Amino acid sequence: MRTMLEQGSRATAAVDRQAMPEAGSATDATAGQVSLPQIMRPDAESPKVSPTLRIAETFVSRQGEGRLTGTNSFFIRTSGCNLRCWFCDTPYASWNPEGHKRTIDQLIRDAIDSGCRHVVLTGGEPLLPALVVELVNRLRQQTLHVTIETAGTVTRELTADLMSISPKLAGSGPLSATDAVQQSETSEATSRVPANRPSPAVPPTPGRSQSSAWQRRHEAARWRPDVIHQLIAQAVDYQLKFVVDQPDDFDSAVEAVREIGNVVEDSVWIMPQGTDETTLDERASWLRPLCDRHGFHFCDRLQIRWYGNRRGT
Ligand code: SF4
Repeated sequence: MRTMLEQGSRATAAVDRQAMPEAGSATDATAGQVSLPQIMRPDAESPKVSPTLRIAETFVSRQGEGRLTGTNSFFIRTSGCNLRCWFCDTPYASWNPEGHKRTIDQLIRDAIDSGCRHVVLTGGEPLLPALVVELVNRLRQQTLHVTIETAGTVTRELTADLMSISPKLAGSGPLSATDAVQQSETSEATSRVPANRPSPAVPPTPGRSQSSAWQRRHEAARWRPDVIHQLIAQAVDYQLKFVVDQPDDFDSAVEAVREIGNVVEDSVWIMPQGTDETTLDERASWLRPLCDRHGFHFCDRLQIRWYGNRRGT
């Protein structure tokens, strides 16, 4: 294990029940409510029923970020998230969750059939559904390497080969309607504008109250160093990835690393916010030197450069 966290720092984190639907339930992101469980579970009467997860997409691609950049992988993207980052580049798994129920049996079969040795479980927030524990255990039983990409706000009793934690910094939450109006009038379009909103970034009337509610929920849920400690302690390996849009975000990332404690610089990856090459290049021009100065990895988003900002990559 690469972690230098002391065992004593482990914390049994309480899962945020309000934000976390039960296994197989769907998060109604539009209303910000968690709906009732909708799936069948295997039980004594129906032992052959395979439990299901709501999946936004599965695909084979190269990992574009972090320690395993370039590794051919089978991606499983769960649908639903307990956060609402303004820069989210997968709104179809968070702001407007889509997807279909897939059985764990199917997912295991598809992972094996992909021929990839690496599986990336991503989202949304893949640790929300309790069934993710069974999925990860069964993937690893097949000797597949499992990366879990999480925001680090929900914990599960499982082992990831690589726990890829992307804690969300202050300022990551949804914009208020007022901020959005000012933003659309004064700033470049790619900065601090929610990915789910068309430009100009003024949500329709119902969205304003939702945005306000989500601002509170996001801020209350986004930072859980106790959960991060536990996820790191359980993992074979880990990395911390921070999304940086502006220089003061970098300062927040440095502070977050300090607060987590006992993190080796080699495990810290700092990513520019951006979903096009121009924006990534602009951020990289000042972010890369900052990373070098602190001994952190600059983490490009190569999937954007390779494929553009589109699904299935
Ligand atoms: S945690 Fe990830 S999936 Fe959820 S809203 Fe933020 S960027 Fe999107």
